[in-house]
Amino acid sequence: MAKSDVKIAVLQGAWRRAGGRCECTQSGHGHEGRCNAELNWGLRGSSMDGGWDSLTRTGATDSLANITIVCIDCKRKGRGVGF
Ligand SMILES: [Zn+2]
Ligand SMILES: [Zn+2]
Repeated sequence: MAKSDVKIAVLQGAWRRAGGRCECTQSGHGHEGRCNAELNWGLRGSSMDGGWDSLTRTGATDSLANITIVCIDCKRKGRGVGF
């Protein structure tokens, strides 16, 4: 359960940076540039509309710079290079 390792304060910081929207910029997901899907803080880990999760860079500590907020669709479509 890697996601429970992320500290809530770090998550909140990443959430604020993201503006409550998906930060994914992977090409091949069907979105131009950043995904920007609107997310709901209360729906972390949910597969409903507004559901989201956090990705931590492989092998990195869960500091703000190493975390990306992604919508559940982008999470399903997969991690890109570097994540
Ligand atoms: Zn997304
Ligand atoms: Zn994406």
